[in-house]
Amino acid sequence: MSKDISKILKQIDDDIHTLTSSELKQKYLSKKGIVTELFQNIKNIPNEERKEYGIKINGLKKLVEENIELRKNDTQTSDLDEKNIDPSAPFDINTKTGKRPHILDLKGSKHPLMKELEVILDIFQRMGFDVMESKQLDDDFHMFESLNFPKGHPARDMYDTFWTEDGFVLPAHTSTMQNRALRRYGPPPIRVVLPGRCFRNEATDASHEHTFYQIEGIYVDKGISLAHMQATIKEYLEKYLETELEIKVQPSYFPFTEPDTEFVISCPFCKKKGCSTCGFSGWIELMGCGMIHPNVLTAGGIDPNKYSGFAWGVGLDRLTLIKRGITDIRKLRDGDLNFLKQL
Ligand SMILES: [Zn+2]
Repeated sequence: MSKDISKILKQIDDDIHTLTSSELKQKYLSKKGIVTELFQNIKNIPNEERKEYGIKINGLKKLVEENIELRKNDTQTSDLDEKNIDPSAPFDINTKTGKRPHILDLKGSKHPLMKELEVILDIFQRMGFDVMESKQLDDDFHMFESLNFPKGHPARDMYDTFWTEDGFVLPAHTSTMQNRALRRYGPPPIRVVLPGRCFRNEATDASHEHTFYQIEGIYVDKGISLAHMQATIKEYLEKYLETELEIKVQPSYFPFTEPDTEFVISCPFCKKKGCSTCGFSGWIELMGCGMIHPNVLTAGGIDPNKYSGFAWGVGLDRLTLIKRGITDIRKLRDGDLNFLKQL
């Protein structure tokens, strides 16, 4: 039974980010709501377990009620309540609205990666995209199942990340948010960028880190094609790198896109003459992208016969390295202020 309760708790935690207050009320507190049914079940609980069970389900009820109440006072801003911060709590508990503060609202001086992120999000917001930050702890469904990696799919091995003993996963890519974004912003048109921190279980060297930021993007509407994808990504990269680029797309492989492509740009430093940044090839393979697989759209509640869309995911650290001419990715995280202040 306590396993069921923790499952429901996890579900509530997901739903408070995606459902409206009336949907929350209907799903959990109505006559046939999930929490109401838990209360009705109390008579079947053995006497000695009843007290603990009661405490737990009361906690669930309170959590749902609090989130319904918070929605009523919800405003556009999500300022931190500085007097009542509990630094040991998950940070979405420390906000007045109960929602996560926007990544750019967090106080303190900005790390170079966050400054770059701000520039990129600004470009996308001017292009009409919404922003939704990814989670740093996720589940198998969002990491794999919803992205067309069924259990046992060999491509799961391409994403070697960290798992907790309870079966949660530290996301290896921001694609974990695709399903949530499709559900939250659907029906189309859907235009969302999904920045967030990702993790890979790998040895570090000058171009690999176990922790990095990615920026995912999805665009879904009627009649969207690869041409829209190329134009959108090119426009964004030219604005960000502040130079004109030649682009190509070449085949790649991801289970969650069809066709799967890799976005390649002409080297912004040597203009295709060849330099150390581009490995003397004149071109830089920058990111994976492609048309969103029909199974992924279906999992997100979107009819693939009616709508199509594209998605991409690019490493923020990689972009920062290219833009700033940094040769070692590890320098971004080793806390050397003398280095970081130069950026
Ligand atoms: Zn070059």
